Amino acid sequence: MTDTDLRKIASMSTVSQLLPFLFKNGSRIHEIGMSCGKCGKDIPAAQIKGTADQINEHCTAFTGKGFCYECRTITPVECHFADDGSFLSRSGTGWRRGIITMDYPWLLVNAWRRLRTLVAKKDKA
Ligand SMILES: [Zn+2]
Repeated sequence: MTDTDLRKIASMSTVSQLLPFLFKNGSRIHEIGMSCGKCGKDIPAAQIKGTADQINEHCTAFTGKGFCYECRTITPVECHFADDGSFLSRSGTGWRRGIITMDYPWLLVNAWRRLRTLVAKKDKA
C-alpha cells in the first residue's frame, strides 16, 4: 500500500459517521462491525473507514477498510445492505453474510438471490 493510498483511506469517513443507513421501508442499520482478516479480532465501527452509496431504495453499498490495532492489519470490506434485513459481504470471489445489527430481524434467506430480485424489480419499474 502506498502513502497515497493511505492518505486516501485516512481522509474517508468512519462508518460511525456514515451510520445509520436509512431505508424507505423504515429499516435502519445503526451499527456495523467486522472482524480482522488476519487475527480475527472484532473491529468496531470507529475503526472502519470507507464510503456508502445508495444503489437503490432497497440497497446501500459500503466499501472500505477496517483497521485492526491488535495486529496492525488493514482488512478490506465491501457490503451490500438490503432493506429486508439481509446483507452480503464480499469474500474472495464470492459473497457471504457479514456481521451487522439492525432494527430488523435477520432473515436467513438466500440474500444474494433476494437482492438481485429487488434490483430486477426496480429495473422494470
Ligand atoms: Zn488483527
